[in-house]
Amino acid sequence: MSSSPIVLLVGKHCYKAFFQELNNFFSILLTMVKFKFKFSVFKASPSFFVVYNKATREVKQLILYTYHASHFLYGLRLQNGKVIIIPGEAFCRHIGPMGMMCFKNTPYEKTGALRKHYKECHDLGIISKEPGSHRARYQNELTCL
Ligand SMILES: [Zn+2]
Repeated sequence: MSSSPIVLLVGKHCYKAFFQELNNFFSILLTMVKFKFKFSVFKASPSFFVVYNKATREVKQLILYTYHASHFLYGLRLQNGKVIIIPGEAFCRHIGPMGMMCFKNTPYEKTGALRKHYKECHDLGIISKEPGSHRARYQNELTCL
């Protein structure tokens, strides 16, 4: 078990593995502190855990957990962690931490504006298009059906 005072478990597999490991530590007490949010995390009420030393009752750690980052990007097409923008795409497809779509729900008239939005609002990299070939490839996709 980590000795860091604050532990962030990222992803459901990490969450499960960590609590399986806790079964090997008999010198601690674990208390769940629930949040009163109306959404769930891993199909349960959001919470965090306080780890106490069983003998001294001293707080040893706070354990927080969250979905893996890919959970929040569901709906986006990614390649090597960068967004793939489909020709003609006009809407932001980013999904936030509470499963909500991006606040920007109006279409972008130009792909460049959508690229800028992904970079500035969501700190996401964008797959670079090949110079000069984007239009031709898109045209081929349209005409070779
Ligand atoms: Zn957005």
